Amino acid sequence: MSKKIQWFVDGGWVAPDTTDQTIEIYNPTTEELIGTVPANTAEDVDRAVQSAKAAFRTWSQTTYPERATYLRKLRDGLAARAEEIASAITADVGTPLRIATRIQAALPVTDIETYIELLEAGIGDSRVGNSVVVAEPIGVVAAITPWNYPLHQITAKLAPALAAGCTVVLKPSEVAPMVIEHLGEALIEAGLPAGVVNIVHGYGSEAGEALVTHHDVDAVSFTGSVAAGARVAALAAASIKKVTLELGGKSANVVLADADLKTAVKVGVSNAFLNSGQTCIAWTRLLVPANRHDEAVELAVNVAEAMTVGDPADPGTKLGPLVSAAQRDRVRAYIDKGIAEGAHLATGGVTVPDGIDKGFFVAPTIFANVDPDSTIAQEEIFGPVLSILPYVDEEQALEIANGTNYGLHGCVWSADPARAEDFARRMRTGQVDVNGAPHNPRAPFGGYKHSGVGREFGREGLLEFQEIKSIQL
Ligand code: NAD
Repeated sequence: MSKKIQWFVDGGWVAPDTTDQTIEIYNPTTEELIGTVPANTAEDVDRAVQSAKAAFRTWSQTTYPERATYLRKLRDGLAARAEEIASAITADVGTPLRIATRIQAALPVTDIETYIELLEAGIGDSRVGNSVVVAEPIGVVAAITPWNYPLHQITAKLAPALAAGCTVVLKPSEVAPMVIEHLGEALIEAGLPAGVVNIVHGYGSEAGEALVTHHDVDAVSFTGSVAAGARVAALAAASIKKVTLELGGKSANVVLADADLKTAVKVGVSNAFLNSGQTCIAWTRLLVPANRHDEAVELAVNVAEAMTVGDPADPGTKLGPLVSAAQRDRVRAYIDKGIAEGAHLATGGVTVPDGIDKGFFVAPTIFANVDPDSTIAQEEIFGPVLSILPYVDEEQALEIANGTNYGLHGCVWSADPARAEDFARRMRTGQVDVNGAPHNPRAPFGGYKHSGVGREFGREGLLEFQEIKSIQL
């Protein structure tokens, strides 16, 4: 059954006849039509921005406890809908249901929780000399998000923006917008005043650019590709808007000589192929000591070949399809390029995985002996493709790890935690896990170099939505 998702302005869904154009949404496993969203126009965007602007007058004046109360209701509304949210994202993105439940539906609840805690702890004024330093909400925020973790990327912006006292116009990805049905219902249930959160759909080139260039938008928080992020920053510059960019990655998983290779490879391959490799923080480059390269390749191939590829709704599935035919073709083109540039294809490749007769699947693919300067070692592929790179000594490992335009995430493994931490400190990247340490949703997150500007999550995530005023007394 195909669902018609609407846009959301002034506290409710907008009647379907305001925009003729729609965008069709397909299930990447079955290739069936599952829904439509309106392709909102610049005129629609203006209506949403005016609604957010009007709501800012009162929302910006609410107290921290009042905002925390609304966020608690929103958190509870999303938690109560966890099952529907996970199923919607499995159907829309192809994330295996087990992972969709554990990550796609659970992380948004934690994202909101973080900002409830900060509001409760107090994010008030500070004093320096004869000045009182006040953090004020920046205004109307444009939040533009991608499809890979469609709700988590939204709550990563929505929760701090609302906590800061901003109002929001959200434009989710046109590739995977089905979860908006549940977000909209949770917003209504939370009773947020009309206009505090508005949602427009549509293409980046139309609705997205209308939002970024709108006179009454004060700040843009963008998550997506480097190319679109650069365009957004250039457009926003004309009206001197504050811009936060969360962009792509090519993260290194560095196994130092004294590390437990088996564990590092096993955890590393799982990480690289999470959500079929469509994860910005995926450790897509595995760096191993040259004298253990072949052993690492064998271990990695065993892990990859044991992964069940298939219907993401099946609880045993580890790897679902890619989000779209276009994404599958893009990934296949990278695999062809890897082979053409001389890397050794250790498993996987461009052929359809065994037993699959429809859907946008790519087999888990591993390249060995990859040249650090080659295309597959330098560019974000965003599919289940792992490159294994041998290094001679630790200095070379660091040079390779830091040797791309990206700097979003990474990992380093050693039997000696102090040695690993020292290496982590020298990596030019926004987050590093030591020996596979767990994800911390309360820690700031963001990129060096082309991976972005600014930070999400934690106290730092709040600063992106604030203006600082000094009052001298
Ligand atoms: P994308 O850049 O194609 O689209 C992201 C969003 O931007 C969509 O809503 C799209 O409609 C909009 N957009 C596109 N062009 C625009 C323009 N000119 N003006 C305004 N808006 C525009 O990215 P995607 O394919 O949806 O997502 C995948 C990318 O996102 C990958 O590169 C991935 O690494 C990155 N990502 C980064 C993070 C992070 O936190 N750093 C998290 C998730 C995904």
